[in-house]
Parts: sequence; structure tokens; C-alpha cells
Amino acid sequence: MEGKCNWCHKRSEDMEVKEITFKSGAEEVKVCCQGCEDQLVAFYKYAESHIWHFFVGLLLVPAIGGAVAVWREGVDNGALGFLIMGVGMGAAIIKYPFVTPQTVQMLGIKKGILLGRIIGALLVLTGIVLFVVCNWFV
Ligand SMILES: [Zn+2]
Repeated sequence: MEGKCNWCHKRSEDMEVKEITFKSGAEEVKVCCQGCEDQLVAFYKYAESHIWHFFVGLLLVPAIGGAVAVWREGVDNGALGFLIMGVGMGAAIIKYPFVTPQTVQMLGIKKGILLGRIIGALLVLTGIVLFVVCNWFV
């Protein structure tokens, strides 16, 4: 069948549709070759077993960072809080770049992961820059 590979997003005339069984149920995926299927399955399995780390990281880190920022407002303008938020959330996204179904539709999973990592790296950088600015220039 014709379509786009869910992993590398290349268009191909003879796409294979496979049903992959996970803990949470069966998922139908379209892949162009065995290599893409293997990588996709490996990523899904990784995502399935680490999805809670991702959510906990993205909920807990801003809560801690926010509390630290408020608590240290008078000391460093909340710089340490911003550092925790930026670096913590960025690191969580870099380590667990679980892309949304919309991103997968647009880019395929492979590029979606790359995009996630870039966003994560930018967050880390933002945290560091805010930390430096708040500490020394405010
Ligand atoms: Zn492919």
C-alpha cells in the first residue's frame, strides 16, 4: 500500500502495515522497511515504560522550580528557580522526547524526536541564561 512511514516519514509505494502488541493494547503502524519497524518498536517500548518519568518530570520540576523562585526572590530574583525549571524540564524532554500524535503526523517519529531534543536543549539554555542574567545583571 501507498503512504508515509511512521518512523522515517519517507513516502513509499509499498508500505507495510503491521500490528504491534504493547502492554496497553495493539497499535497499527505503517513502516517502509524492517529497520524502521525495529526502531519504532524499540521507541514505543521505551516510551511505554518511561511515560510516567516524563509526566512526573514535567509536572514536578516546574512546581519545585516555582517554589524555589518564590522562596529566593529576595536573594537572587528567583534565578535558581528558573535554572531548575529550564534545565529540569529540558533534560526531561531530551531524555524522554515523547512526541505527540500531531507531530508524528507532520514529521514522522524520527524527526519528531529530533525536534523534541532541540526544544529540550533550548529550554536548558534558557534556564542557564535566565540564571546568569538574574544573578548578575538584575
Ligand atoms: Zn521508514
